[in-house]
Amino acid sequence: MTLLALPALADNYIWLLADAGGSALVVDPGESAPVDAALAASGQRLTTILLTHHHPDHIGAAADLAARHGATIHAPRDERIAVADVRIGDHDRVELAEPAFAFDVIAVPGHTLSHVAYVGHGLLFCGDTLFSVGCGRLFEGTPAQMLASLERLAALPDETRVCCGHEYTRTNCAFARSLDPANAALAARAEQADAQRAAGVPTVPSTLADERACNPFLRIDAPALRKALGDGDRIERFAELRRRKDAFRMPAP
Ligand SMILES: [Zn+2]
Repeated sequence: MTLLALPALADNYIWLLADAGGSALVVDPGESAPVDAALAASGQRLTTILLTHHHPDHIGAAADLAARHGATIHAPRDERIAVADVRIGDHDRVELAEPAFAFDVIAVPGHTLSHVAYVGHGLLFCGDTLFSVGCGRLFEGTPAQMLASLERLAALPDETRVCCGHEYTRTNCAFARSLDPANAALAARAEQADAQRAAGVPTVPSTLADERACNPFLRIDAPALRKALGDGDRIERFAELRRRKDAFRMPAP
């Protein structure tokens, strides 16, 4: 099994997962060129496309890739995704013949209402729901929905690799450190992310163990976060955290 994060558009990742026989799937192809280049370089065949949510930077190249490679598109039930062969939803299982992989589907409303995640083979493809050290903006869902979605993902095993949709880790670390300054795991993650970006490599996938240790959106019950976010209930603290992240700008270096 090979897993690649293909940089696309401004700061997206298209995930490419292939089996030993050379059959491949991609998750959230917003652009065709990085996928075509990776397939040409490896000789792999694209058979399957998995989509997490309807935003154009995640689905923009799906129809083109499907038409040219004969790939099958799996997508959530949302008419804003016009082209799909298989519609999936919460608790469905995607069983593929080639590549020989299977995934459980988890509904994760919050960033959008029809957003889904795919879990299997120790991998979590979570689109714009969970990021490394962050989470997606609430464009359609409520804070309560997003918190419940993140908690479903956070219940997966420690070693699960978090394959998210964007390279946002350094900004997310800067924001998290402003609220959780004594967190040594977070300081180490920030240093690692700086080194990864300086070397020109992705900061993801992370692991769920990393995220539980560093990600403020999974740590709203930690003493430092409770102190920073006030005495409200969990949903109020989560909503306040998301509001502050929306207003946060990376400090100048
Ligand atoms: Zn999105």
